Amino acid sequence: MAGTSVNPYEMAQAQFDRVAGLLELDASTRDLLRQPLREYTFAIPVRMDDGQVRVFRGFRVQHNDARGPSKGGIRFHPQETLDTVRALAMWMTWKCALVDIPLGGGKGGVVCDPHNLSQREQEQICRGWVRQLARNVGPVSDVPAPDVMTSGQHMLWMLDEFEALHGGHYPGFITGKPVGMGGSQGRAEATGYGVVFTIREALREMGLDVRDTRASVQGFGNVAQHAIRLYTQIGGTVTCVSSWDQADQTSYVFRKESGIDLDELLKITDRFGGIDKVRAREAGYEVRPGDVWLEEPVEILIPAALENELRADNAPRIPATVKLIAEGANGPTTPEADSIVAAKGILLIPDFLANAGGVTCSYFEQVQSNMNFFWEKDEVLARLDVKMTAAFHAVSELAASRRLDMRDAAYVIAINRVAQASHDRGWV
Ligand code: NAD
Repeated sequence: MAGTSVNPYEMAQAQFDRVAGLLELDASTRDLLRQPLREYTFAIPVRMDDGQVRVFRGFRVQHNDARGPSKGGIRFHPQETLDTVRALAMWMTWKCALVDIPLGGGKGGVVCDPHNLSQREQEQICRGWVRQLARNVGPVSDVPAPDVMTSGQHMLWMLDEFEALHGGHYPGFITGKPVGMGGSQGRAEATGYGVVFTIREALREMGLDVRDTRASVQGFGNVAQHAIRLYTQIGGTVTCVSSWDQADQTSYVFRKESGIDLDELLKITDRFGGIDKVRAREAGYEVRPGDVWLEEPVEILIPAALENELRADNAPRIPATVKLIAEGANGPTTPEADSIVAAKGILLIPDFLANAGGVTCSYFEQVQSNMNFFWEKDEVLARLDVKMTAAFHAVSELAASRRLDMRDAAYVIAINRVAQASHDRGWV
C-alpha cells in the first residue's frame, strides 16, 4: 500500500517478537502467535457489465481465535496483499484482547478498485467472496466487517449470500450492517469517537486543555470524519486534513489556520473520502500536494488513512509543537518512525488501542443482533466510552509502572491474554 518500504506483516511480527522477549514467552507460544492459524486465498470470477469475465483475488486470514470467533474487516483495495491482510489480522487479535472482548483476530480483502466498478460488479464480488468462504466463516467462527472502501451495503450483500447458502437468518454473521437491517446505532461514529476518547484521556494525563490544542489529520474517510466531529465538539481545532486524489494518484493537504469546517468539507467530499481540491480552494483552503500534513504546527497528529505513512524518511519533519499522536489508521507508524517519535518526547497512542472503538461497537452489534434487541445510540456510545477509557488507563498505568512506551504496554496486556487463552485451551 502507500509507501511500501516496510512490509506490514514483517512489521507486525517484529513488534510481536520484541514484546514476546519482554514477556519471556516460551518458543511454542511464540511460534503459534507470530503467524496466522489459517489463511484462505481464492479467485472470484465476476461477469462484468461489458460481458467479459474478470477474476479478482480474495483473501481471508484468521490469526487467532483462542478467545472467541475471529473478527475483522474486509478491504477493497487495488494494492491489497496477503501480507497486509496477515498483519491486519494479527493486529485485530491484539485489539480484541486489549479491549477485553471475547473475540479473536481476522482480516479479509479483495484486490480491486471500487472507483472503477459498478454497483452490480461490486455486489458480485461480495457474493463471490462469501461463496468461496461459506464453510469457513460464520457467527460462531469468523465474523467480517467493513474496512477501507467497503460499506454497510457491501456487508448486506454478503449477509444475504451467506443466508441464502445456509437457509436461515444469521444476523450475527457480519457487522457494520446498516441501521434498521441489524446494524448498531453508533457504529459509523465508533472508531473515530473511540480515537477521541483516548485523546481526551491522554490530554487529561498530560495536563493539557483540549481547547488549547490543534490537530492535523491524515485521511478524510469514516475514521477521520468522526474523529474530527467529536474532537471539535469537545473544543479542539483541526487546522489540516489530507486526502487521496484518485485522478492524480496523489495525496493533498487542505489547510486553514483558523480551523477547517467539517460540514463544509463533507459537502465537497466523495464517498471514498476524496476532497474536491478545486472547490476546496474556492472555499478558502490552502491546497498542497504531498504529506505536509505532518509538518503542521499542531499539538496532535491523527494519521487515519493507511499503513506506513509515518516513516524514517518523513518522521524527522514532525515539528516540536506535536505532543501526541493518536493512530486512527492501522499500522501508520513504522518501527523506525516509532523511535524517532519517542526521541522527540511525543506520546503515541498505538493503533490497536486508539482505533479499537470500531471492533468494540461491532461486538455490541453482534450482541444486539443475537438478542434481536437494539440499544439507543447514546447507550452504545456510553458503553464504548467506558471500554475505551478503561483500556487507555490500563495501558497507561502499565506503561508508567514498567517504564514501557504505550505500544509495548498495550502489546504486553494483549499478548498475555491471548497466550493465556491459548495455554488454557491446551494449544501450547
Ligand atoms: P476510508 O476508506 O473511509 O478512508 C480512507 C481515507 O484515507 C480517505 O479519505 C482517503 O482519501 C485517505 N487516504 C488514503 N491514502 C491516503 C494518502 N496516502 N494520503 C492522504 N490520505 C489518504 O477508510 P476508514 O474506514 O476511515 O479507515 C482508515 C484507516 O483506519 C485504515 O487503516 C483502517 O484499517 C483503519 N480502521 C478503520 C476502522 C473503521 O471502523 N472504519 C476501524 C479500525 C481501523
